[in-house]
Amino acid sequence: MLINIIKAIIRSIREEWNLAIKNILLPSYCIRCDERILTEDNIYYCPRCWSTLTYTERPYCSICGIQHPIAIGFGTRSNFPCADCRKNPNKYIESIQSPLQYKELAREAIILFKYHREKGLIKPFGEILRNWAKEEMSNMKFDLIIPVPLHPLRLKRRGFNQSFLLAQEIVTCFPEAEISQALIRTKPTHSQSTLSTQERKENIKNAFEIKEPEKIKQKRILLIDDLVTSGATVTECAKTLKKHGALTVNVLSLARAHPKEFPY
Ligand SMILES: [Zn+2]
Ligand SMILES: [Zn+2]
Repeated sequence: MLINIIKAIIRSIREEWNLAIKNILLPSYCIRCDERILTEDNIYYCPRCWSTLTYTERPYCSICGIQHPIAIGFGTRSNFPCADCRKNPNKYIESIQSPLQYKELAREAIILFKYHREKGLIKPFGEILRNWAKEEMSNMKFDLIIPVPLHPLRLKRRGFNQSFLLAQEIVTCFPEAEISQALIRTKPTHSQSTLSTQERKENIKNAFEIKEPEKIKQKRILLIDDLVTSGATVTECAKTLKKHGALTVNVLSLARAHPKEFPY
């Protein structure tokens, strides 16, 4: 007992020392303001800069996840469907949720992570997703956590699937769930980022397939993506999953871009 306590104290001192030595030998500086960073939680941005991230706030649409304009939701914390979702309900997705608004720092950090391969950002991103799951998804249960897949050619070029890394960060929040890579991308699509909403739908049509359909049947699925804009990609994924017998599909993306702000 006593020896274990002593060992734990030594371990924590050693950890402190390691960090202190690392800070001296390999100092990190905030890429925004150049301030010295003294923790290992986020070696890219200092806590002050990181605190400027824009989070999605209640009330947001309980279906598409877009935050309601302040004038509409003022005074209530309960989420409700937006006019678009009431008019054209998504046939394949129960709900989309995203902790971050895709603007300013969130946009910069996601571009660094995805296109400049700064994989270390997964640590602070994982924390954001886990905090969100605790606050907003505590009553939701899933059997499978499925990352939006990349086409094998893009995966080879990038070296990692950002959605798979995010899925690994979130899986601990849903004890009944396991990560599945049954969903695969069979059509090499153009990047969606420069396309209009209609072009996105066409570009992504029939892009996905299921590797082992029997593993999808009657499953409650949480689909993971880094960014949702028009929702065309996640809707096409959900359509494929439902076609193969999935019970429900909910979506969690790290960030949400408003389609009207990113119409190109
Ligand atoms: Zn900073
Ligand atoms: Zn909506």
